[in-house]
Amino acid sequence: MKSPEDASPLIPLSQGQLNLLETCPRKFQHIYLDQLGTPVSYEQQERLTWGSRFHLLMQQRELGLPVRSLVEGDALLQRWVKALVDAAPEILTPDFTAFRSAEHCRTLHCQGYLLSVVYDLLIEDERSAQILDWKTYPKPKNRKWLAKDWQTRLYLYVLGETSNYLPEQISMSYWFVKSEPRPQSFKFVYDELQHQKTAEDLTKLLTQLTRWWQDYQEKGISFPQVLVSAERCSDCSFAIRCQRTPESAVSSDQDLLLNLGDVQEVPL
Ligand code: SF4
Repeated sequence: MKSPEDASPLIPLSQGQLNLLETCPRKFQHIYLDQLGTPVSYEQQERLTWGSRFHLLMQQRELGLPVRSLVEGDALLQRWVKALVDAAPEILTPDFTAFRSAEHCRTLHCQGYLLSVVYDLLIEDERSAQILDWKTYPKPKNRKWLAKDWQTRLYLYVLGETSNYLPEQISMSYWFVKSEPRPQSFKFVYDELQHQKTAEDLTKLLTQLTRWWQDYQEKGISFPQVLVSAERCSDCSFAIRCQRTPESAVSSDQDLLLNLGDVQEVPL
């Protein structure tokens, strides 16, 4: 990736990258600057492929294109799509009085970065704008973490900044298509206060990112690591590189003891 201080083009940043940056800046560095990939398990790959097919199918359906070839031989996929359409007819029945756009992309220029969002479905009419997002993982028990997630915050913010709608006219709904016995949703409404808070938090995060990036490129200083107390390192694929394994904790204790052994006795 280019440095934000370099001349254009702007650096694209997604909600996933903002989440990663907030979770652990060092991990962001490893993945996007050092370009160290993280291995994907077979199960994760299966889930990703299934999720992509579901999204493609919903897009084709929205565009009025044939979907038979996509669902043929996959009874489960057919079942979930039907269940979603049955659960949310008001949003999945074409309404020709509204503007509807599937896989709708928007970008926003901000502090040398290009914030990018992709709405699974955007529905706009004279009074309101709804962002819809299909999730192929189970509905979380607690909606609070989803409210704080950068997907929710950035998606709402970018629409507020790139349209004429007031924040109060904008909403975002997640549909959890695999929920039993039928798909369920979480809806997030928006307002001016949330919009201002997201603007402030984004400014802070992007200012930090630019500073860390400059220090990394000009002085070779690595991005900060998440605090050990956050307990995020044990299942991170960079734990050895970051010396955050239980063994490295023991060896650093031993190093400390050895170093203490080297300390000269102070005569009284
Ligand atoms: S091991 Fe910990 S500090 Fe290192 S990248 Fe992973 S989460 Fe961050």
